[in-house]
Amino acid sequence: MADVHDKDTRSYNMSKIRHKNTKPELIVRKFLFSNGYRYRIHDKKLPGKPDIVLPKYKTIIDIRGCYFHQHKNCKYATIPKTRTEYYLEKFKKNVERDSENVEMWEKEGWEVIIVWADCQLEPKKKNSIVREETLNKINKALKWQYQ
Ligand SMILES: [Zn+2]
Repeated sequence: MADVHDKDTRSYNMSKIRHKNTKPELIVRKFLFSNGYRYRIHDKKLPGKPDIVLPKYKTIIDIRGCYFHQHKNCKYATIPKTRTEYYLEKFKKNVERDSENVEMWEKEGWEVIIVWADCQLEPKKKNSIVREETLNKINKALKWQYQ
């Protein structure tokens, strides 16, 4: 097949793809898939459309950005200097919704694993020990859940 893109378009597309592949959700999904786990994403049948659902393990993985979900005591959870009030209100709503979701899921008998995207997955780093540890923890939690 002929390459229809000129060089600039191509490198732009490549960078877009690279960016997409480092997204925290994709990191976790890739890990799960390559370890034989099967999951559903953004399941509309569950309240709050959880990021990743593993029905066989009765487990939900909730991946949260440290900034928008204001991870407590996390260096990534900074407060913006402009439009501060607007953002604080937005953050507050996110945090409230997060805890409501977890409450609903647990009430329905789901095990919930919360992953903090920025500090626990370090998506911008090429290699990350922290990321490896986080993924191993998820793996262990799922194995334990299935016993
Ligand atoms: Zn964090």
